[in-house]
Amino acid sequence: MPLAPTLAVIGGGQLARMMAQPAIALGLPLRLLAEADGVSAAQVIPDQLVGDYRDLDTLREVTAGCAVVTFDHEHVPTEHLRALEADGVACRPGPEALVHAQDKGVMREVLGAMGVPCPRNAIVGSPEEVEAFGFPCVLKTTRGGYDGKGVWVVRSAAEVTEPLAVAARTGVRLLAEELVDFRRELSALVARSPSGQAAAYPVVATLQVDGICREVIAPAPNLDPTLAARAQELALQVAGELGVIGILAVELFETTDGRVLVNELAMRPHNTGHWTQDGAVTSQFENHLRAVMDLPLGSPAPRARWSVMVNILGAEHTDGAEVGRLYDGYPHALARDPRLRVHLYGKELRPGRKVGHVNTYGDDLEDCLARARHAAAWFRGDLGNESE
Ligand code: ADP
Repeated sequence: MPLAPTLAVIGGGQLARMMAQPAIALGLPLRLLAEADGVSAAQVIPDQLVGDYRDLDTLREVTAGCAVVTFDHEHVPTEHLRALEADGVACRPGPEALVHAQDKGVMREVLGAMGVPCPRNAIVGSPEEVEAFGFPCVLKTTRGGYDGKGVWVVRSAAEVTEPLAVAARTGVRLLAEELVDFRRELSALVARSPSGQAAAYPVVATLQVDGICREVIAPAPNLDPTLAARAQELALQVAGELGVIGILAVELFETTDGRVLVNELAMRPHNTGHWTQDGAVTSQFENHLRAVMDLPLGSPAPRARWSVMVNILGAEHTDGAEVGRLYDGYPHALARDPRLRVHLYGKELRPGRKVGHVNTYGDDLEDCLARARHAAAWFRGDLGNESE
């Protein structure tokens, strides 16, 4: 007899892979639906099926005998989630919550109605409507965007053509938002269980380059404690009112005039929470598992004064290289910094692709930043063989 009930996980990316570590510790068997043979999580979760998450029969096959299913991504069609729930499989997070992470238009409308501060926004369908909204602005496809894809900053009518064409071609709506004059981007992460227990991690600062998260500092340096508490309260409010189960990441803008505005919601472990693997008492991956299984949550308290996460992105000059190229970086990186924590995803290198991250922690922020940046650059192949 297994130690615990089996949890089904849809999607074989690095988030599912990183759920496997605490699942081992907790003795929680996982069953994976991977999109292809040998993808990131499929390398580490033996009980697996390869198939299409858009196919209901496949979803039924992988969840057979499981009381609960959770997700590596937010793309499973809502009607399939409803069908699984009708079969008696609890989807965590569920379809009613997930739609807010799938559709930015719905998210803006619902958050607005809840009184959650967001950038001024409107759905637009023509150049005239964008012009009426006002330039400069940000245009976003309401569905299907990620890592900055499907997001355009537009300053004139001429620049509106492409976003409108992309939206028309992909059959999604287009959302216009004011171009927020932000000081920096923050993220507030919370875990919430079906029993209603919630845990809020310290609010972090995130550096995004070209729409991709590069670095995270926990906690956000020099953040006004009132604003930090406000960000945590907003995340708890959103999680509670939308009925989110598992991890909710609320990406925020800290404006130059001292407010926080909600940018995005993610209902799964999130890149801005990877620091918790080494920097918090309970990692976001463990709290995600605990939450979806309705177990008591673990402490989100930091283990060190500062934690820094830097992503390892594939570089142009290593395009197509085998993942083993990263392993070649170990002797230097690990010898140089015995406290460095490395997390690789088993992914082939492609320019701009997230293939891993490093975490550092300690009492001195500048030192943590320097160590994490050096290691990430080393793995990326940006540094020569000089052993500075
Ligand atoms: P994605 O779905 O790709 O994560 P986001 O909506 O988070 O898209 O936007 C990606 C990035 O674009 C954000 O991290 C931020 O840097 C910038 N951005 C998005 N919306 C705005 C806005 N209204 N004002 C200013 N910058 C924005």
